[in-house]
Amino acid sequence: MPVVRRGRPHLNLQLPLTKLSHARPPRISLPLPPTSSTAAATQFNWSSSSAPISAADLDKIQVLGSGNGGTVYKVRHKETSEIYALKIINDKSNSNFRSQLDTEMEILRRTDSPHVVKCHSIFQNPSGEFGIVMEYMDSGTLENVLKSEGAFSESKVADIAKKVLNGLHYLHSHKIVHLDIKPANLLVNSKMEVKIADFGVSKILGRTLDTCNSFVGTCAYMSPERLDSLTYGENYDGYAGDIWSLGVTLMELYMGQFPLLPPGQTPNWPTLMCVICFSELPSLPKGVSDEFRNFIDCCLQKESSKRWSASKLLSHPFLCKDSPIKEP
Ligand code: ATP
Ligand code: MG
Repeated sequence: MPVVRRGRPHLNLQLPLTKLSHARPPRISLPLPPTSSTAAATQFNWSSSSAPISAADLDKIQVLGSGNGGTVYKVRHKETSEIYALKIINDKSNSNFRSQLDTEMEILRRTDSPHVVKCHSIFQNPSGEFGIVMEYMDSGTLENVLKSEGAFSESKVADIAKKVLNGLHYLHSHKIVHLDIKPANLLVNSKMEVKIADFGVSKILGRTLDTCNSFVGTCAYMSPERLDSLTYGENYDGYAGDIWSLGVTLMELYMGQFPLLPPGQTPNWPTLMCVICFSELPSLPKGVSDEFRNFIDCCLQKESSKRWSASKLLSHPFLCKDSPIKEP
């Protein structure tokens, strides 16, 4: 039974963690602080040049959002006045949850790309709560921007596609699959930088031939092989799954609504299964360029092996038109 995660929009349907396959790829584990409630505050800092940031250094300004993984606050550093986003996660001492938290923190620790949200520090309070100090993205998520400003133009979608693909290319070349690409997990700032965030269900693949057997993520954006492993094969290619999710996301940004269902239709598991796995997909409306239509086709191939990789898509004509795409 799919479950709806609390505090998220109606499209954010999830499959339960208990559906995680037994055949999970090996993970590389990061040495973590002790989890007992009496543990002393422990902290990790990615920057060797500055002092580690801990909870005591930060003043909470406001709540930015909350989800399954925890609550995210806008915070100000007491000494430097620097603004950060602080994600607070309760250590639920549940092995599945803990394992995902380990992975999320390890990915944030490892990644250093202008297209992936930057993590400055991770600490654990004596109460057992984890804090992840991240760069603050002052325009929020693409989901929020879409709600407040409406659908994006084709050139804007191309610009966003290029930025997200650069991030995905970086992650995939480091054997990291995101598994939950959607407008709500892409952050924007006033410089119109777009960065991939929320590695709460992501995976690090240990070897080139590893496949991905996770069923967590947001099912509205899931590829056919993730939704229906019986028909499409049990071991799926997580890299190609991210490309599918990107294709759905870009269509949504252009059309201003979830693109795979008619406006107003409530998404539920059987409907999504029918559309994504067994029917012909809705296409982009008339009037879009051939390049855009073809680009989406390259992302939304039902057979995962036919989908283009992130690096190949970066040279697609949709992103490489002669006229440079201007920032607003
Ligand atoms: P969910 O699982 O429901 O996606 P989550 O608990 O995993 O949520 P995030 O997606 O990481 O948490 O963040 C929740 C919300 O907090 C985001 O939707 C966004 O509005 C806000 N947020 C997260 N990180 C940042 C950031 N670095 N800068 C600005 N806002 C952020
Ligand atoms: Mg999220």
